[in-house]
Amino acid sequence: MTIAKKMTVFGEKSSWIRKMFEEGARLKKEFGADNVFDFSLGNPDLSPPAAFQKTLEAVAASKDDGCHAYMANAGLMETRQAIANHLVEEQGVDISGDEILMTCGAAGALNVVLKTILDPGDEVITPAPFFVEYRFYADNHGGSLITVPTHTDFTLDLDALEKAISPKTKAVIVNSPNNPTGQVYDQASLTALGSLLTAKSTELERTIYLLSDEPYRKIVYDQIEVPSIFSVYSETLVCTSYSKDLSIPGERLGFIAIHPEATYKTELLAGLNLANRILGFVNAPALMQRVAARLQGEKVDVSRYQKRRDLLCKGLTDAGYIFTTPPGAFYLFPQSPIEDDVAFVRELQNERILVVPGSGFGGPGHFRISYCVPEKTIADALPGFKKVRAKL
Ligand code: PLP
Repeated sequence: MTIAKKMTVFGEKSSWIRKMFEEGARLKKEFGADNVFDFSLGNPDLSPPAAFQKTLEAVAASKDDGCHAYMANAGLMETRQAIANHLVEEQGVDISGDEILMTCGAAGALNVVLKTILDPGDEVITPAPFFVEYRFYADNHGGSLITVPTHTDFTLDLDALEKAISPKTKAVIVNSPNNPTGQVYDQASLTALGSLLTAKSTELERTIYLLSDEPYRKIVYDQIEVPSIFSVYSETLVCTSYSKDLSIPGERLGFIAIHPEATYKTELLAGLNLANRILGFVNAPALMQRVAARLQGEKVDVSRYQKRRDLLCKGLTDAGYIFTTPPGAFYLFPQSPIEDDVAFVRELQNERILVVPGSGFGGPGHFRISYCVPEKTIADALPGFKKVRAKL
């Protein structure tokens, strides 16, 4: 069967998650699901907040004419305005529902934005390690992804970013809290990033957009606050979703928020609406939009993720692993005790522990543990982690 050559290549490039999935299925068949410790997928396992179920039931009971019909490509104004009201607090800017566009998840949001802003040959920069799908998303719309290193604790390296900016740069994507590192960028580094992009846009006479991919914004620990990205740069678009904070990734609801002072706001809004339509999303799911309108500020019980993070961090420290304690998201990105992270991951597989090699995220010499798994899985896996560390 013939398929596009590019898809074959992409399939190979993104093969890590698939390989882990296949390996997991094989191990679970052989040893039973309870005896396999699967930390490979970032699929939230916590139930949505209690208010979600109640609201969903109430909204689903509606028999209003047209409640399941097509709508404006940007989504329901009721929902967009509720989000804007929340963002006024969260981002500290005066934003309205007109500057919000509902999407099919953060993935949909990123694709809609990239379709709107990229010309063939444009470059999109992102700090590595990074969410691997960015490379495919940039390519979807004729662009290419350029990655730049971060510091050893995965904080932003502004010098590296500056060096990577060229006349072809159209956007920078930042993801904080980060997948796969769990790092959160602080106010000072984001302010410096905003100044850098302002200076470079002027120098190159071209608007460089900042895309803030922040679906983990509300999954943070130790009272840490994620700074407002809108406060540092006005050519910013927030791309986010309810996948993680409401634990509903299968429902595919997210949104784009455009900075109210973006220079080409009118053109951007027209482009985003059109892109949502012609990419085939048309509009974000209607039922979920009505639910989200009533759940602004709600989130899962983050203390449960924090408990898991603490259990994992303590166990891995005791076993001799080296890592930066992640202040957010539900990932840990420790150093591999041996240089070859793929070989290390294979050693863990012998203990029926599934993690993803850092190479898969542009972070070789590391591995990613996704701790959206029950505490028992973490506790039961720790002896295996310890054994492999001691062996190497
Ligand atoms: N961005 C990052 C960094 C992610 O980790 C994910 C999903 O895991 C997404 C975007 C896509 O999220 P969504 O399910 O909202 O499309």
